Amino acid sequence: MPELPEVETVRRDLHEHLVGRTIESVCLNRDDILLQTSADALAEALRGATVSSVDRRGKNLIIQLDRGPAVLINLGMTGQLFIADAEAKLADHTHLVAQLSDGNRLVFRDIRRFGHVELCADGQAGESCTLRKVGIDAMSEDFTAEALAEILRGRNAIIKSALLDQSRVAGLGNIYVCEALYRAGVSPLARCGQLTPEAIRRLHRAIRQVLRESIAAEGTTISDYVTGTGVPGGFQKRLRVYGREGERCRKRGCGRRIERIVQSNRSTFYCPGCQPDPAPGNNGVNAH
Ligand SMILES: [Zn+2]
Repeated sequence: MPELPEVETVRRDLHEHLVGRTIESVCLNRDDILLQTSADALAEALRGATVSSVDRRGKNLIIQLDRGPAVLINLGMTGQLFIADAEAKLADHTHLVAQLSDGNRLVFRDIRRFGHVELCADGQAGESCTLRKVGIDAMSEDFTAEALAEILRGRNAIIKSALLDQSRVAGLGNIYVCEALYRAGVSPLARCGQLTPEAIRRLHRAIRQVLRESIAAEGTTISDYVTGTGVPGGFQKRLRVYGREGERCRKRGCGRRIERIVQSNRSTFYCPGCQPDPAPGNNGVNAH
């Protein structure tokens, strides 16, 4: 958390409120949020610069400045990046505040500090520490069913871990992987190489669908996430398996209870009826 829909929601809000604004001053409260960047270099790059765009790749935001450099921000687990007006009281754990020419402020707050800020030279964002190892964005045109099949082909890895690996598909985290596997009828325990071409197509469709729906609802707020205007998202009410252990599956004709297992130290929620465990004679995929 936050995952692609949350970061995309922040991107859209910031794009609307930041583009064309000039950054008048910067206040950095702690520099251990900086990655390969000095506090002086960041302040110098930002002061007097005008924002020309706000982009996203995977779970990373890219604030492009008119005079060349870009500032990459990764929100980590608990990061918040939002626009606050001049009167708003800033909460604890506010690490960076940029004063904007329209009187508003851009605020970066991160309780657990797994997030980071990296300054990139003109045109070098793609080569930054943050983006160098980031794979195909799950909402980009390049992320086709064929691309997903290529990523999974012949691999022995568990499908859930493979989808969480940002160096292959960027943007998915625990929540949307659980939701997409459920919608596609694929067991979270299946191995990549076991999936049939049809199951991979269903999985691709499910990934795009759940991301699109969540972006439309401005993301999922479980604990800390807020949009770029500082309010919670709305998709948490529409999660079908995540956080629903013990509740009945809502798919017509199923009614089994949602189960929770732990994979790589993280909770996986799934329906054993719709997503049968892979076992001898069963390839881990529900034949619809
Ligand atoms: Zn079910």
